[in-house]
This record gives sequence, structure tokens and C-alpha cells, in this order.
Amino acid sequence: MVDPKDLQLDTTPVVLLIDDSQFVHRLLDARMRSESISLIGEFNGKNGFERAVEDSPALILLDLDMPVMDGFETLRALKEEAKTKDIPVIVLSGMDSSQDKVTAFDLGAIDFVTKPFELTELRARVRSSLKMSALMKMLSQKAQIDGLSELYNRSFFDDRFKEEYDRAIRHGHPLSIALMDLDHFKSINDTFGHPAGDTVIAGVAKIAVQECRSSDIACRYGGEEFVLIMPETSPADAFTLCDRIRERCEATTWAQHPGRPVTISIGIVGATDGAGIQCTPAAMIELADRNLYDAKKSGRNMVRASDINGAQVKIAKAS
Ligand code: GH3
Ligand code: MG
Ligand code: MG
Repeated sequence: MVDPKDLQLDTTPVVLLIDDSQFVHRLLDARMRSESISLIGEFNGKNGFERAVEDSPALILLDLDMPVMDGFETLRALKEEAKTKDIPVIVLSGMDSSQDKVTAFDLGAIDFVTKPFELTELRARVRSSLKMSALMKMLSQKAQIDGLSELYNRSFFDDRFKEEYDRAIRHGHPLSIALMDLDHFKSINDTFGHPAGDTVIAGVAKIAVQECRSSDIACRYGGEEFVLIMPETSPADAFTLCDRIRERCEATTWAQHPGRPVTISIGIVGATDGAGIQCTPAAMIELADRNLYDAKKSGRNMVRASDINGAQVKIAKAS
């Protein structure tokens, strides 16, 4: 379990103050200086909301009584917008009304501070909210990662692939995916033990990450299967990348079984022009799986790729 005391805030967190009072801006500017935060400000709810969407602050301090768009309206807008819904909001109010507090918490505020505020207390509340949100962020990132391979997990893949698929179609950009499956992996476990198999899964994951570009997304699809999302990549380019992964797997010597290399089979499907994608994301995965199956059937240690825009199918056999 992560100890919040161990939590490091990696960069100086940006705190957005949305308040129509010049006085409050000047006061917090002066009195928050000792905190490790960068304070930015807006003077009404509308501008505050837009700034939050643009700058993604780590925390928002939100006044209730404001012109143009009041605090409750702003809070509602922030919680409805995907880009800002997870940003913690501390409501600042000139009134100590229970009803306002209930409304603010019901709308998703993390804390409520009554003006005139005790600055030491406000600073402590800001620190505590920032720690809490950094912890939540870290936990939600951890929930996307597979513990053994340290790649993204299956549920992350499902969401991300759908996003990249939509983007490729919208912009008419290339997109490829690759399904990879270790060859005769069961025999590694059976012969050298499960921990040796685990080492291979982690090692092959590392090779895949090293060969990928930073825009590629490597995930563990399940068991000894991996899936790679390659945005802006034609199947021909995906083929080149995946064949490097295949070659490196084959060439790797494993400390626990130096005489037993591990090979991988890979099925790729992609579109050189996303606008021409006619099938669903699930059908794309099925096509990649079919190529993987063909690679297995034709002898393993092989990459097979096809272009769903109709370009020539590319096949590579291990030398
Ligand atoms: P093929 O070349 O046809 O893919 O043969 P294979 O032996 O790789 O395929 P099979 O599906 O028969 O076996 C996959 C094995 O992967 C069985 C399973 O125990 C093992 N496996 C799945 N997840 C893990 C894991 O996390 N760690 C280890 N060590 N083994 C795993
Ligand atoms: Mg398998
Ligand atoms: Mg296998």
C-alpha cells in the first residue's frame, strides 16, 4: 500500500483561483508564496472554466458569489467536462450556510472554506487536497498497468484502441495494431518453472517497449500475449517494427535457460488511410488475430501483416 507520506509531487502544482475579488487574489498571491505551488487566477466563472480546460490545474479554489457565471454553475460545468471533472475544487464562500455546503459537496467539491479565511488553515487544506489528488492520480495510473510486464493492461487497451481508431478515421491517418504471442510458451513453464516463464514475459515486454516509438502503446493482452497500438503507422511500417521485435526475441539469451531461445509470432492489421477503415475495432482485432493464427500455423517465429485498405499482404518468415 502506498504511504501518502512517500508521495512526491513531481512538478510544481498549478492552483487556479477563480474569484471576482481583487483583494482575495492579492491576499493569496502574497500568502501562498511560501507554498510550493504556482498560483494562476481568473475573475469570473466563465473565464475560470475556460482556463481550467486549457491549463489543467492540479487544484481549483472557487468563489461562489461571482458575476457572469456563479460558483455553483462553474462547479457544475467543471464536473461535466471530461478534461476537468477530476480536478479537485475547494469552494470559498463569504457565507457560512449549511445549504451552500451541502450543494457544493453534492456537486463534487472536495472542501469548503468560509471567508474571511484563516490563511494557515487554507494553506493546510490546499496541501492536503493536492496530496490527495496526486495520490488518486497515481492509483488510477497504477490501475492501468499490468504488474508483471509493466505494460498497460487489457482494460486500458480496450479504451485506448477505441480512441485511436476513432482518431484515425476522423483525420484519415494511418493506424496499425499487432497481436503477439510467445511460441510454445507452455513448455518454458513446464520445463523451467513458472518463475522462468514470468521472467520471459517481463523480458519480452521490455524488448517491445525498447523497439517502439514513444507514440506506440504496448499492452499485455492476456497470458503470454501482447498487443501493440501503432498510431500514424502503416501496416508496412508496423511490419518493420514488429519484425525487429521478433528478431530480438529470437536472439535473446535467457539466464535461466540459455540453451532454449524464445520466439514470438505476430499478426498485424492496419490501414494506410484511416478514413478507409470499414470495420469495427473488434473486427480489426479479429483480423490481426487471424494473421497471428496463420503465422502460428505456418511455423511460428513469424510476422504476418495485412492492410485493410486493400494493399498487398506482407509476410515474413524467420530466416
Ligand atoms: P503457441 O505457440 O501455440 O502459442 O503455444 P503456447 O504453449 O505458447 O500456448 P498455450 O496457450 O498452450 O500456453 C500458454 C501458456 O502461457 C499457458 C500458461 O500457463 C502460460 N501463462 C499465461 N500467463 C502466464 C504468466 O503470467 N506467467 C507464466 N509463467 N505463464 C503464463
Ligand atoms: Mg496464447
Ligand atoms: Mg503462445
